[in-house]
Amino acid sequence: MIGLTEVQQARERIAGIINETPILHSGQLSSISGNQVFLKGEHVQKTGAFKIRGATNKVKQVVKDGETYVTAASSGNHGQAVAYIANKLGIPATIVIPVGATLSKVNAIRAYHAQIETCGTTSEERLPRAMELAKLKNGVYIPPYDDPFIIAGQGTVGLEIIEQVQDVDVVVVPIGGGGLISGVLTAIKETNPSVKVIGVEPEVANDTYLSLERGEITSVEATATIADGLRTSQPGNVTFPIVQKYLDELVLVSEEEIRSAMFFVMERMKQVIEPSSAVAVAAVMYGKIRAQNKKVVCVVSGGNVDVGKLGDVFKDLK
Ligand SMILES: *Cc1c(COP(=O)(O)O)cnc(C)c1O
Repeated sequence: MIGLTEVQQARERIAGIINETPILHSGQLSSISGNQVFLKGEHVQKTGAFKIRGATNKVKQVVKDGETYVTAASSGNHGQAVAYIANKLGIPATIVIPVGATLSKVNAIRAYHAQIETCGTTSEERLPRAMELAKLKNGVYIPPYDDPFIIAGQGTVGLEIIEQVQDVDVVVVPIGGGGLISGVLTAIKETNPSVKVIGVEPEVANDTYLSLERGEITSVEATATIADGLRTSQPGNVTFPIVQKYLDELVLVSEEEIRSAMFFVMERMKQVIEPSSAVAVAAVMYGKIRAQNKKVVCVVSGGNVDVGKLGDVFKDLK
């Protein structure tokens, strides 16, 4: 299991490539929830999501180990991150994406000069293909979350939060495969265990919730949650034990709550965020977090949306 030292090493390794992202205060979210609410703005991170942190830590490591080609299987943000850092380090990358991936994400992958291959609609189809490509061309497959270097990289979000928000009480984090939250948990709990860390999943993608309840990794059917970064069907072998060890609480939000939190942040705070990050805001907005008069930080994990399709996203929103 990784520890604080690995997260600190990741921070040094990725410095100069990633942005230290801003903290935004929301007066309105604060008064709605009875807390002081802040957003950690990974939507303005390089490549538009926190994924560049883990990808940079991992790809830099494999290049140091002599590797010269990387692959990834991703519906978007992880693929974008791997493409960006491979290009930056001057090695080729192939990103295997699903049919119908978010257009803005695909265009970005292309802009970073990675090869794109389309394969199926589920990660069960994409993943073996990305691994096979890596094997065929003597390269290495870069996993999206279930890897110590990826987790350590994502954990740097936690280190920044502790420095940027003095006396933070609660940190609220979206959960997909669990890379982000395991990194943040490691960084925060091993620095100050009294800070509460709360995870959030969509009701329809509650695999980590069920896994915690049953005490073992449990998978759910692939879902169509609007939060496309959280569609993973089960927590990872590396991430789950960390979540089990440290997580204080996991709350669920509905699709309607996700859309309306995203709308709120865009309209009121003028920030373009994607549905996967809106889950953390939704948890605070809809009173799922039991906290009063506390300093609460929601990790806004990314901002990659098809802006042209926002009208559809918000259609019928009450
Ligand atoms: C990948 C992703 C998540 C989930 O991260 P995990 O490490 O898979 O839990 C959340 N939000 C966004 C924007 C993402 O791209």
